[in-house]
Amino acid sequence: MSQRTAEVVICGSGIAGISAAYHLAVRHGLRKVVLVDERAPLTLTSDKSTEAYRNWWPGPDDAMVRLMNRSIDLLEELARTSDNRFLMSRRGYAWVTADPGRAEAMRDGGLLAESFGAGPLRVHTGRVSDPEYLMSPAEGWEDQPVGADLILDEVLIRQAFPYLSPAATAVLHTRRCGWFSGQQLGMLQLELAREAGVQLIEGRVEAVDTAGGRVGGVRVAAPGETIEISTPRFVDAAGPFLNPVASLLGLELPVFSELHLKVSIEDHRGVVPRGAPLLIWEDPQVIGWSDEVLELLEAADETRMLVGEMPAGVHTRPEGGGGSRHIIILWPYHAERTAEVFPLPLPEHYAEVCVRGLATMLPGMDVYRERLPRPFIDGGYYTKTEENRPLACPLEVEGAYVHGALSGFGMMASQGTAELLALHLTGGPLPSYAGAFTLDRYGDPEYVQRVREWSKSAQL
Ligand SMILES: Cc1cc2nc3c(=O)[nH]c(=O)nc-3n(C[C@H](O)[C@H](O)[C@H](O)COP(=O)(O)OP(=O)(O)OC[C@H]3O[C@@H](n4cnc5c(N)ncnc54)[C@H](O)[C@@H]3O)c2cc1C
Repeated sequence: MSQRTAEVVICGSGIAGISAAYHLAVRHGLRKVVLVDERAPLTLTSDKSTEAYRNWWPGPDDAMVRLMNRSIDLLEELARTSDNRFLMSRRGYAWVTADPGRAEAMRDGGLLAESFGAGPLRVHTGRVSDPEYLMSPAEGWEDQPVGADLILDEVLIRQAFPYLSPAATAVLHTRRCGWFSGQQLGMLQLELAREAGVQLIEGRVEAVDTAGGRVGGVRVAAPGETIEISTPRFVDAAGPFLNPVASLLGLELPVFSELHLKVSIEDHRGVVPRGAPLLIWEDPQVIGWSDEVLELLEAADETRMLVGEMPAGVHTRPEGGGGSRHIIILWPYHAERTAEVFPLPLPEHYAEVCVRGLATMLPGMDVYRERLPRPFIDGGYYTKTEENRPLACPLEVEGAYVHGALSGFGMMASQGTAELLALHLTGGPLPSYAGAFTLDRYGDPEYVQRVREWSKSAQL
């Protein structure tokens, strides 16, 4: 058994743990920060993400938009000081619909997002007086418009997005959005944190001493030895294992997990242009299967849903620089509450379903119907609260904190939530939106219920 001391011990070296360590050590100057993980950094969920970011979030209030705006500010700061080591881009998200009713909802949503601080809505209808529409650059992120362009002018849609289905009648191009290398972001922050004295210990946190109702120490089962770390503070940043770790404090957090998968294929026919933004089909759809396949799908309980109306939300983006021809595709039609099981259970037809669903938005994908390029499927769990808002706050046990429930937005939100966590922990002044990301919000059940209702409109 070996003994150590720390100012704070963080359980988990995914993006939640690493960004917390970075904010505490680099930005707040804490000297003895210890990160503990039984796996290599970033290897459970944080290297499986789509790596996309957006400041486009639903209500009922401006809390998510303000949190994401702050997080993106911090990402930009880091991109600037690191010569954009994590390849931040600003191509935007293009939300596409063939439904005129949905186009109206996009306009309302855009005006609301504008009122929350996401930036102005510019509507393009084909009139001479229309505002200018600027295409996004393939690389870089500086000097780009914010807010959104709602394109209702079908001539402009065909010009800017010639590869979309002719059925598309509206595109909402949200602009303070793009993607970056999440792995590079995490490794950069880990490097900077270690330079500032953060120690990374390989091992499993198996007990937390809470004698007297406050954190006193952490026991780590490391390879070949047990390490006792005396510490007054402990951060649960255990990703999908947030609750097993909270149980070491005698607590249960209001979180659950959904399985989310992504498929990567080589788009060797170049259906998705390499400079395209993230493309999302916003309408529910029915996939056209052959009669033979239809019969097979209908016969089994697990596949019957594939023959009926499938939910909106299939999305794709080009992946990789240089000569890459890969695209990644996601369609969370299968997302429901589930136990966190590793290795992940992979549904048999996922790649084929995604490619067929994508063909509704990108008819060029039909070339892959008969011969699907070899797919690579991975993914992980969205561990989340029912209102799909993160937790960055103190817990009931004195000295204990949580940084998690990062759902499908952990890479983009990490800087904003880690900053909140660090401010709670060091007693710094909190921004007014901080309360929306604490457990205190459950003191207002009516508000929580409203957030839950709104969150249903933003599930990617
Ligand atoms: C398919 C998919 C697509 C996504 N796309 C996006 C996207 O486009 N943009 C975005 O912002 N986010 C996205 N996300 C979400 C993002 O990836 C997650 O929110 C984020 O990675 C969660 O990070 P984490 O650090 O909380 O968890 P993890 O990365 O899972 O890290 C938790 C760590 O805790 C460790 N741990 C747990 N228990 C213990 C213990 N007892 N002792 C020691 N160590 C322990 C684990 O080993 C693990 O390393 C996506 C997620 C998925 C699955």
